[in-house]
Amino acid sequence: QLASSPPVRTQLLEALRRYWGYDSFLPLQEQAMSAGMAGQDSVVVLPTGGGKSLCYQAPAVCRDGLALVISPLISLMKDQVDALRACGVPAAAINSTLTAGERREVAEQIRRGKLKLVYVAPERLLAERTLEFFKQTPLSLIAIDEAHCISQWGHDFRPEYRGLRILKEVFPKASVHAFTATASDAVQRDIADQLGLADPQMLIGSFDRPNLNFRIRRPANRFAEVCQLVEQRKGEAGIVYCISRKEVDKTADALRSLGYRALPYHAGLSDDQRHRNQDAFLDEEADVVVATVAFGMGIDKSNVRYVIHAGMPKSLEHYVQESGRAGRDGLEADCLLLYSGRDAIVWRQLIEKGENGADAGALESLAAMERFCGGVTCRHKAIVNYFGQELENDNCGACDVCLGELNLVEEPVVLAQKILSCVLRLDQRFGADYTSKVLAGSNEARIRELGHDRLSTYGLLSEHRNSAIREWVEQLVGQSFLRKAGEYGTLELTEAGRAVLKGEGSPQLTKPAPAAKERRSRSGS
Ligand code: ADP
Ligand code: ZN
Repeated sequence: QLASSPPVRTQLLEALRRYWGYDSFLPLQEQAMSAGMAGQDSVVVLPTGGGKSLCYQAPAVCRDGLALVISPLISLMKDQVDALRACGVPAAAINSTLTAGERREVAEQIRRGKLKLVYVAPERLLAERTLEFFKQTPLSLIAIDEAHCISQWGHDFRPEYRGLRILKEVFPKASVHAFTATASDAVQRDIADQLGLADPQMLIGSFDRPNLNFRIRRPANRFAEVCQLVEQRKGEAGIVYCISRKEVDKTADALRSLGYRALPYHAGLSDDQRHRNQDAFLDEEADVVVATVAFGMGIDKSNVRYVIHAGMPKSLEHYVQESGRAGRDGLEADCLLLYSGRDAIVWRQLIEKGENGADAGALESLAAMERFCGGVTCRHKAIVNYFGQELENDNCGACDVCLGELNLVEEPVVLAQKILSCVLRLDQRFGADYTSKVLAGSNEARIRELGHDRLSTYGLLSEHRNSAIREWVEQLVGQSFLRKAGEYGTLELTEAGRAVLKGEGSPQLTKPAPAAKERRSRSGS
């Protein structure tokens, strides 16, 4: 990785100090800025709050010519342009909110070389006339924000980003710099390929966010858990994510009736209503926003103190992106993930009904998310490992696992062996629900009809509630001793699972929640 030469470093630090009042670089900023200074293509992956904007803004200020910044959202552009102007950097945005007169004015300023940065949406830039105009303009560099939008492997593919592949041909002299917060290895490479970058610098920051406390629960009553954290953080800003609009409305209403300043946010509301709710949150007139995942891209609120997922996201990419909206100021924040076995079933159905049919990539991402939920290893470690990174410490001190909040059973191996052998007795042809019922000794007709009440493993765990057994199955999936196969999530033993039957390997299972909390669980066990 190219370290900046002393004069370049000095020049960058001067710009940081003069325009932004900062006197040092955040991790990887120096390398990313140096690529911009040297005109070398780059892919920069830094977590939310990692300071990506400055990585292109500082070189744009230091270099001659105009920097183009491609950004997907008009609201986001406006914030950035306002912030730059407030620092004394001449910048503008070209988008549909400008009048013809304003647009001419910006064009004139560009022609006279008065601007250092111009923000533009991809579809606008790619319009014939705009391209022609910028071909006449001396460009320093081109920065692409939210670059994962170009990749179908990412969590937010936008077709209009695909057209950006022509940039390298149309503007051969400008270096192209792609920025994103969340990207697996595959997405990072895809970004570079799609954009046709020339031997790009790959600058990948750490995905760990040590100031976030991660907790995962599979509660009997989700709303009670939501309320508990909202109450604990009363008066502070938080986001609650739900899977469906209906749940968003229900949850927001319920929170409001309990006296919390909560507002809904989803694509079913009018634009106007959505903006008002968003502004109320930014202006601290509301504390809690209850939202579908439509909320938050480009929301820059640094003091969000908690993010609750009232349902399982469909991938770890999504989870990291959404939970990452907490604690952008670097102060401690809570991320609570509540899930049930049903969430994955709902997602699987949605994916299978989706436009790409049963998208293998999406199903794989979902399976990884399920493993994350059922896992009992450090949450920070599980996240960074998923993105191909390692953690330095064994104990993060900031997740339910490392804080010892998980209540583990004393003899997990014996328990796991009972469950795994039942899966084998069922010829690995049944799902988690059915298997749990057999172990619980349920007298459901189907079990008797199939003769499974005569299996040696029938009723083997009858002293436990069905819901508890069901959870252990999920945990064994989460720890990769079992896997779910096919459309119906048929349970199969993995190699590690077979090893457990021989007494090798160390599964970990948690004690079930106290029975009183089970009142509202669905299946009559
Ligand atoms: P990202 O786009 O990666 O989410 P931003 O560019 O919005 O992050 O930066 C996050 C915050 O960090 C902003 O408030 C920004 O002003 C601040 N920041 C950026 N660079 C530095 C720096 N070198 N020193 C101190 N603060 C910085
Ligand atoms: Zn941990």
